[in-house]
Formats: sequence, C-alpha cells, structure tokens
Amino acid sequence: MNTTVLGYPRIGGRRELKKATEAYWAGRLDAAGLERAAEGLRRQTWDTLAEAGVGLIPSNTFSLYDQMLDMSVLVDAVPGRFRHLEGLDAYFAMARGAEGVAPLEMTKWFDTNYHYIVPEIGPDTGFRVPAPTDAKPIAEYREAAGLGIETRPVLVGPLSYLLLSKPAPGSPTGFRPLDLLDPLVEVYAELLERLAGAGTQWVQLDEPVLAADRSNAELAALRRAYDRLGSLPSRPRLLVATYFGEIRDALPVLAATKVEAIGLDFVAGPGNRQALGAIGGLGPAKTLVAGVVDGRNVWRTDLNAAMGTCASLLGLSGELVVGTSCSLLHVPLDVEEETGLDPRLAGRLAFARQKVDEVVLVGRALREGREAVADRIPAAGVAEEFVNARVRARLDALGDGAPRRDYAERRAAQLDLPLLPTTTIGSFPQTDEVRRARADHRAGRIDAAAYQAAMRAEIDRVIALQEDIGLDVLVHGEPERNDMVQYFAERLDGYAHTVHGWVQSYGTRYVRPPILFGDVARPEPMTVAWTTYAQSQTTKPVKGMLTGPVTMLAWSFVRTDQPLADTARQVALALRDEVHDLEQAGIRVIQVDEPALRELLPLRRADHAAYLDWAVGAFRLATCGAAASTQIHTHMCYSEFGDVIDAIGALDADVTSVEAARSRMELLTDLDDAGYRQSIGPGVYDIHSPRVPDAEEMEQALRHALDAVDADRLWVNPDCGLKTRGYAEVEPALRNMVTAARRVRATL
Ligand code: GLN
Ligand code: ZN
Repeated sequence: MNTTVLGYPRIGGRRELKKATEAYWAGRLDAAGLERAAEGLRRQTWDTLAEAGVGLIPSNTFSLYDQMLDMSVLVDAVPGRFRHLEGLDAYFAMARGAEGVAPLEMTKWFDTNYHYIVPEIGPDTGFRVPAPTDAKPIAEYREAAGLGIETRPVLVGPLSYLLLSKPAPGSPTGFRPLDLLDPLVEVYAELLERLAGAGTQWVQLDEPVLAADRSNAELAALRRAYDRLGSLPSRPRLLVATYFGEIRDALPVLAATKVEAIGLDFVAGPGNRQALGAIGGLGPAKTLVAGVVDGRNVWRTDLNAAMGTCASLLGLSGELVVGTSCSLLHVPLDVEEETGLDPRLAGRLAFARQKVDEVVLVGRALREGREAVADRIPAAGVAEEFVNARVRARLDALGDGAPRRDYAERRAAQLDLPLLPTTTIGSFPQTDEVRRARADHRAGRIDAAAYQAAMRAEIDRVIALQEDIGLDVLVHGEPERNDMVQYFAERLDGYAHTVHGWVQSYGTRYVRPPILFGDVARPEPMTVAWTTYAQSQTTKPVKGMLTGPVTMLAWSFVRTDQPLADTARQVALALRDEVHDLEQAGIRVIQVDEPALRELLPLRRADHAAYLDWAVGAFRLATCGAAASTQIHTHMCYSEFGDVIDAIGALDADVTSVEAARSRMELLTDLDDAGYRQSIGPGVYDIHSPRVPDAEEMEQALRHALDAVDADRLWVNPDCGLKTRGYAEVEPALRNMVTAARRVRATL
C-alpha cells in the first residue's frame, strides 16, 4: 500500500518565491539568485515529503510562474512575438508582457482560484523537444536524485494542454489546438524516452480536462494519445492523473490503454468508485491512485471514511496507492503556523503539510490495520459549537424570501435619474495614503478615531471629485476595504482568518482566503456607517456596496458539513439585514457584487441547473427584502455569460453592470434573447489598462449599445472597480465618460 501526493505548494512558508521573483523583476536579484531561491524551495518540498514518509514523491511541481506556461516553454510553443527574447526574459514576457509585447492570456484553472497562462496554438506552431539542458522535468528529476530522492516528474498531459489552449490570433476559422495532437504527442514521446534515459521510473501526466464533459472526438483523441505513449518501447511507467470530478466516459477509454496507473479523485468525484466497479476494475496490471485526501479544502480528512473508501477499492486494481484528490497547490502550507486560531477550529484544519501526514496515515492503516493508527484519528462531523440556532430558525421562517414587486412597478417607485445615468462600480484608487492608514490602524499605530478621520477625509475627496465630474449615482469609494470578500468575512461570525495561509492565485499574486467554518451571522451593520457618512456629504444618491453570497463562498474555504446552498443562504441572510439597515439609513441604491457567479459553475453541464438554482436563490434572498423604491444593482466582471445568461435575469436586480470591453453588441443582444428586461450598464471603458479613452470613443460605445438596448434601460459606467488604477488615469477617464454620456443624452 504505497502513498503519494499529486503536487505540493511551491511558494514557500514565508512567500519566498514571491519575494525572490519580484526582486528579480526589480533588478535587485540576478538570475542565479532566483535560481538559488527556487532550488531551496524545491529541496524543502522533497525533504518534507520524504521525511513524512510519502512513498512516491512528485517533482516538476515547482514553477517560477505557472505549470501550463512551463509546458509551453518545454514543447517550444512560444509565439513569434516572444522569439527575440531568451530564457527567463522570454518566460516572464509570456506571463506578464514586455516592452511592446502583449503577454499571453490568463484564465481560471477549472473551478479553482488558480489562474494559468493560456497557450496560443496556431496551425504553424511547431512543437519541438528542447535541448537536453533546457528540459525542466529532466533537470528537476536529476536535482532530486542528487539529493538521494527518487521522484516522479509531473507534466500536464497532452489532451489537457491542448484543450486548455486557445487558437493563436489569425488562425483560420475552424482551427482548434486539438488538431495538433499528433505532433504534440510525438514531442511527449521523445520527452518520455529522454526521461527514461535519465533513470526516471514513473511520470505523472495530468489530465484534469477529463472531469468535464468531453465529446466523442475528444475521447477518441485521448485514446490515440495514450495508445501511442503507452506503446513506446522505452519509457517510464505512466500515471495519468485526473482530478476535480468524475471522469465518466473517459474511464473505460483510459483503462483500455497501456498506462500503468490511473489517478481518480474520490473527493470531488465520489461516483468514480461506482464507475470503476461497473467496468470490473482496472485489472491486475494497473495501479489505482486513490485521491481520498481533499486537495481543495482545508478540513481534516475523515480518516475512517477515507479508509473505508480505500477498502472498497481493494480488488479493483493490481495495486492501490493512497493519494490526494488533486495537487495541494490549492491549500495553504502549514496550519501549525497559525497560532491565533480558535483551538476548536484549529483542531479541525489540515493544510498541505497536515494532508501529507493524512495520506501517510491512511496508507499505514491499510497496511497495518486500523488499530495501528487508532489514536491518531480525530473526531469528525458537524461542529455543534458552531451552530447558530437563531440564524437557522430565521432562515426556516423566511423560505425563499418572497419575490420583489415587478420591475416596472419598482422602476416607477425608484429614484428619478437622467437618461443614461452615470456611475462607477464602487472602488476608487487605493492610494498609498489609504493603504497606510489601514495598515497603521491594523497594527495599532493609530487609534480608531484617527483611522475614522483618515477614511472620512478620503470619502470627502472621492465624493467631491465625483460631484465635480458630474456623475449621477455616487459611491463612497471603498477605502476601508482591503479586499471585497475579506472585509465582510472579518465582520461576520462563522469566518476565521489566517496569518500565513497564502495560496497562489497567479504568478506572484497570492491570496489568503478566509475560512468559513460555522454558521454565519452578522453581529452588527458592516457598511452602514461609511455609506451614510458619504451620503451626508452630498445631495446626489450614494450607492451602498455589498459582496454577494456566491462570491463570499467562492473566494473562501468553505465548510463541507452542509450543502453549499445552505451556507449561501446564511450569508444571504446577513446581507439581507445589511440591505435593510442601509435602506433604513436612507440609502436608495444598493449594489450586490457577484463577480464569482460564473466561476462556481460546475464542470459538468448536467450539474448547472442545481447550482444556478441555489446561487440565484441566495442572491434573491439577500436582495428581495428591499422596498420597491430601493434600486438593487449587481456587477459581474465578465461579458461572456454563456451558461449563466439566463441566471442574470433571474437575479432580478434592477441594474446589472458588466464588463463589455470586447463584445458589447453581442452581449446586449444575448441578454435580450435570454429575456433580460431590466437595466444594463455595459462597461464603456476597460479599467485593466492605464490607457485613458477619449470621449468620442466612449460616445461610440454608447451609440453601439443603443442599437441593442432602449435608452431608458442603459447605464453608463466603467468595466469594473477603479482600485487598481491611479487618479491620473481615473479622473480624465471619468470626465470623458460623463462628457460622452451627456453628448449622447442630448441627441435622444
Ligand atoms: N465593488 C467592487 C469594486 O469596485 C467590485 C469589484 C469586482 O467587481 N471585482 O472594487
Ligand atoms: Zn468587476
């Protein structure tokens, strides 16, 4: 009974990777220095895993930026615009851009909060095996071997690599990256032969795309790729690792290939167990790597359940290896570092380091019998002490909260605003001064009164500026918020916070998600004081600003002892109370942001409806208590609604603002086709770029929008919040935006 993990965090316990990488970018550290830091981190990981007693240790799980980007470099899928650059310069330019060169796109890694760098593949992308010295997986394998540790290099598998790529700009219509499967597989074949030559026993090929719906053509491609790799005369043994869900139709396909091992996720994909049984198991020649320790969440494993799962898998393969459900990249490193947590909670948590011990423990229990580890099995189950009976009773009584009055009726009762009202998405630039005031307050260097004075002064400035610019619906600017989820999580019961619990989001950007561990309740209003202060400084309406229930879950680690839907309702109830209090305080416009609505969408289409049902239900519970005269806004940071388009209307907000930099027209028509009848604010300029668009450009955008939407339903706003920009860009851009709105208004 062997043990393994599919991957491990690479950022270091004190964010060493970020510090070294940023120092390198700033010219404070040379390439050799960065490499030394990287080597130290790799060694730490291997040592940790070896000392913990993990049997099969992965390598090439380290990356200076991203594992997909590493693959692109490894197979030489480097677009022409980076070809004049070399080595690290080319590598980081692909991730972040360089002088005059746009970076590759970045997008979410499945339904996680990790972002990968999207390969650009065109018909003339010529895959190539790198020179021996450049082959990172071989170098890392040798490096570990030099330390006396035998490892299993991890690569993104060829199917996932291509299905996660996008066609290079200018590719002929109909071209798909998957068209290049055969030449890519030849490059993998050569790499595998070289790895074998270096002494590698096992290689892990990650194929997470198998957890999503796959067409017959894609399954055929899977078969072709692994038949070819399986039949190589000289190669390491192959583990095809799948994760993030059930692989369904892909299971019999993989099982029929010659790969020696298959990894299945039994946490996100419990149905994998039954599917295995249905095909009569993998047979005596194959190893099953059973992902029974959750790599996506921070809870201790219910070891009895994990052992039970493993026991039920015995006989379904030649050998069984106990593993993590996916790479541990998605959880923080070590809960032992968190000394400030409520001990009742701390005892329930396991970060990457603890999960490694769990894997080893389950392996030992299966070898030596449960008794051998009995004293190390903690209690599992619902935490009685974190139940809030009042919240539960109120939710039971509320049901779905009853629908709001109909849109036309609400509209008549709401604020009188000019046609094409102008507004912003919420945050204004977070200046050094604002950040310093927050940090000083947190550290106790300034008292509450001084902090309040600093924030109020900032709100004064932001209100005065908006009045001067001539916006119609103002915001307070969110200076008091470090992060739109953390701010609320810190004010709600049931959420805890870590000090060192960083997780890589992309490159050197790490996040520290709050932990939603118990029933959520709102001890007191969270935003009312700031919002009403802002309202007291102006006669224009000020929009209150809240973060929606789905987003509050998506960007946190969330309890698993009850359905997500139930947890979402608890958050929604807290927001509903906040909406009520804002109304009572005279606020007539309230925005509930849901930028993560699409992100939590399940990987399988068949699961979409159930998800959207509770997601929409939670939003409505949060907002439908509002009076007809209160205008509810929502905001999403994307324009490609795809599978959530029907849900946008079902949220029943009065106004929806969205990103629209790319496809303004189609978006509005799509929404219309989906039956969306409320107002819409398609962003008229892209806040992700420092460029200041002129009034003509935005006027043009508005006229385009008016082709698809009646003037009395159109709002004018930027794409997203302004907190990452500076005033030097924001002020002229907003002035131009208001000018554009006025010009168009004058012609209506
Ligand atoms: N109100 C938030 C802001 O303006 C919304 C952020 C977001 O959409 N991600 O910053
Ligand atoms: Zn946004």
